[in-house]
This record gives sequence, C-alpha cells and structure tokens, in this order.
Amino acid sequence: MFDQFALHERLLKAVAELKFVEPTAVQVAAIPPALEGKDLRVTAQTGSGKTAAFVLPMLNRLIGDAQPRVDVRALILLPTRELAQQTLKEVERFSQFTFIKSGLITGGEDFKVQAAMLRKVPDVLIGTPGRLIEHLNAGTLILKDVEILILDEADRMLDMGFAEDVQRLVGECAKRQQTLLFSATSGGASLREMAAQVLREPLHLQL
Ligand code: AMP
Repeated sequence: MFDQFALHERLLKAVAELKFVEPTAVQVAAIPPALEGKDLRVTAQTGSGKTAAFVLPMLNRLIGDAQPRVDVRALILLPTRELAQQTLKEVERFSQFTFIKSGLITGGEDFKVQAAMLRKVPDVLIGTPGRLIEHLNAGTLILKDVEILILDEADRMLDMGFAEDVQRLVGECAKRQQTLLFSATSGGASLREMAAQVLREPLHLQL
C-alpha cells in the first residue's frame, strides 16, 4: 500500500484517485531513500513504474517546504519530446491536489510561447536538453535555484549525443540538494562517468 511511504496526504489522495493500490518493485525500492533526500542511481525499464518512483518524492519535497517560489525548483531531463510530454502528464496527475505548477520545454514548440511560460516560473520544469540550452543561452531560463534534478533515460540521452548539453544543464543546477539518475540499462563507461560526476554518494538500485 502507498500509505507505507511518508508521503504528504495530498499526494496519497492523488495516488488513490489514480487507483494505484500496490507500489511496484522500483517504487518500493526507490521512494523511501528518495524521500530521505539521498541521491539514487536506478536501473529500471519503462513500464516498471519508475516515473512515479521519482515524481512522488520530488513533489513531496516541493510541498513540504513553504518557501515562496522565485525560480524553478525541480528539473526533469528526458531524451525525447514524447517522453517529456508523458512525464508532464504524470506530474500533473500526481500534483492535482497541490498548488505545484509544471511546465514543458521541448523542441518543435514556439520559443516565445515557452519564454512566456518560463516568466511565470513553474515549480517543476520537464524538458529535453537541446531546447533547454537554447533558453539558457537566451537568458529566458534560470536554473540556479533548482533543488532536485532528475535525469531520466540517461543512457538514451548519452546515446543521442546529449552528453555535453546535460553536463551544462547539471552545472547550472549548482545548488541542488538531490539528484536522481534513471536508466533502462546499466549502461557503459560514459554512463558510469556521468553518474560519478552528477551523483553524491548514490544508492545504486537495479530492478
Ligand atoms: P512507467 O514505468 O513510469 O512509464 O509507468 C508505466 C505505467 O504504469 C504508467 O501508466 C503508470 O501510470 C502505471 N503505474 C505506475 N505505478 C503504478 C502502480 N503502483 N499501480 C498501478 N499503475 C501504476
């Protein structure tokens, strides 16, 4: 049952609304240490329930802290527009009983419309590396107050040639308190290198 986790009641209400009853294996393994603030490196397939495994602890952190919002507080990086859109949907479903606002930044959408969205400062930003870098370069995106950074499908981001962009984005999140790195495969040397660079004393979970 999801109430085994120390999640805020508004998140448990959303979980119930979505008719999630039993957490999946990756959720059981990842949610408690993520709620404690630990960095995680998780190897889990799509379909395993990995999105909820990082979205719920991320939202719990944002709800728990009543600081007035000035800049983006959580960043989720994904390799493709489709994955970013799906993840936004999942974040919106889980945050439906909260005041948390999310935004999407991917290629193929109007830059000015995105810049206007960014001026309203979403709490959670979900996006693909290339267009996020364009917004950094244009000065329309500020990531210095990001508290939690999530790299999803990190192996695929590397395969798609995003290593440099991801490094730059990670570097912008200099004050982050927590980083979660998810990949579908255990990856090669470049993934290990990235994990070593971005994670601090991570717990390694292989599902
Ligand atoms: P994911 O691996 O994150 O892409 O999730 C795969 C699908 O399973 C998504 O449609 C989720 O909404 C759904 N899902 C994730 N966790 C659970 C759960 N504990 N109970 C029921 N459905 C779930």
